[in-house]
Amino acid sequence: MFEDIPVDVGIIYEGERIRGRDMQLELGGPRETYKFELVQAKPMDEVEDGKMTIVGKDIKELPEGTNTPFGMIIDVAGAEIEKDLEGVIERRLHEYVNFIEGFMHLNQRYDIQMRLSKKSYQKGFNSFNHLGTVLLRLYKSEMPFIEKMQITFITEPAKVEEWYPRAMGLYEARDARARGMSDDEVDVFYGCSLCQSFAPTHLCVITPQRYANCGAISWFDGRATAKVDPKGPVFEIPKGALIDPVKGEYEQVNKVIRDKSLGEIERVQLYTAFGYPHTSCGCFEGCAFYIPEVDGYGVVHRNYKSKTVNGLDFVTISDLTAGGRQVDGFHGLSIEYMRSPKFLQADGGWDRVVWMPKDIMDRIKEYMPPEIVPKIATEESVQDLDGLKKWLREKSHPIVGRWKAEEEKPKEAAAPQPAQQQAQQFPMAGFTVPTMELPAGALPAAMLQGLPQGVTLKIILKNAKIRAERVIIRAEKE
Ligand code: SF4
Repeated sequence: MFEDIPVDVGIIYEGERIRGRDMQLELGGPRETYKFELVQAKPMDEVEDGKMTIVGKDIKELPEGTNTPFGMIIDVAGAEIEKDLEGVIERRLHEYVNFIEGFMHLNQRYDIQMRLSKKSYQKGFNSFNHLGTVLLRLYKSEMPFIEKMQITFITEPAKVEEWYPRAMGLYEARDARARGMSDDEVDVFYGCSLCQSFAPTHLCVITPQRYANCGAISWFDGRATAKVDPKGPVFEIPKGALIDPVKGEYEQVNKVIRDKSLGEIERVQLYTAFGYPHTSCGCFEGCAFYIPEVDGYGVVHRNYKSKTVNGLDFVTISDLTAGGRQVDGFHGLSIEYMRSPKFLQADGGWDRVVWMPKDIMDRIKEYMPPEIVPKIATEESVQDLDGLKKWLREKSHPIVGRWKAEEEKPKEAAAPQPAQQQAQQFPMAGFTVPTMELPAGALPAAMLQGLPQGVTLKIILKNAKIRAERVIIRAEKE
């Protein structure tokens, strides 16, 4: 199928990382303001099947080791093609581009970052026509409902810039469709396992009020895709019995998550960042992160380049959140989910958010409760945690009420347990140690770097066998 392509193409290359020193070329990426990938459903007579157009320089004409603005527009047509399929067809680019040896694709929509390795370039992968040929063949074989496809690659900076607002307008129109719908109105949600090649225990649960973490797939997109591609990575999840309406926990959703994560994730609560939070693969548009010093949340998005109010940057927060894990206090999210009335509803919703970058606030503020908007700090109003505390008090942010309630709580001293009672809690065979202290230096410094103060680490030792010659349990004085 790919004999005429100078490099190998296959699933084994998914997850391949290309470092800066090995890179021939970067398309889009954090250094470029203008970049996008866009799929558009078109009438049959507006698509010339197999046509590829390059606007601007081709790969071989772009200097080695540089980055460039980049746009990719894919027009599709077919009897079964409808607008609701655009988002999912577009999202499959993440998978298909990553199948190419020495080609890396990250993120989605207006946030894309693609890299071609020097090695693959030297093997002869030096034109967008190679990329287009691979994509055309993969799409046609994997999604047979696509009858016609044409692709336009744009590297001409002025043209990418010209197209960018149009692409943003089209994404916005797609996102707006599910607004106003409620989870209670539907019997099924949709699951997406597309990112399991990067995070094997991750599954996105897409509901009318919780857009996919990557911001690319709505409930409508899920429904359209599950219908035309029933064996694909997007599938129907019957909701089943409602376990917790505030946290957003459903019996059948838990069952599907358990199956798809091979037992690793037992439960998911959709609308909280604590307990059993929704997992995150790494493709999320942004993260909510708990700030223990103020008992509130900050939110940061991928394009925010500076440090957040607690001194961590997006990359550090993203590393703490990603990987298909459930990490208390870290919540991968899409910008569209922040427009949902169920955004972090179990944790206090917007009353719990204390800091966010100004540009996200500008994008979503019409969906935020109007009284909270002036009380949430941005990088323009505060730079550190001391400044944040002062700001929140001055603005009478609702979080301050939580501090006062906490201060007024009577302090109950924990009654020391007798040594015998402690011993009884741990039968001598197969016991579980609920908490344990590790000696200083037991964890590599790199693992701890950037962790906010006061964060509790949970370490799970799987199938570990620990042998002790003696177990001594000693009561200690306070
Ligand atoms: S982030 Fe979620 S919805 Fe988006 S492609 Fe990955 S698994 Fe699917």
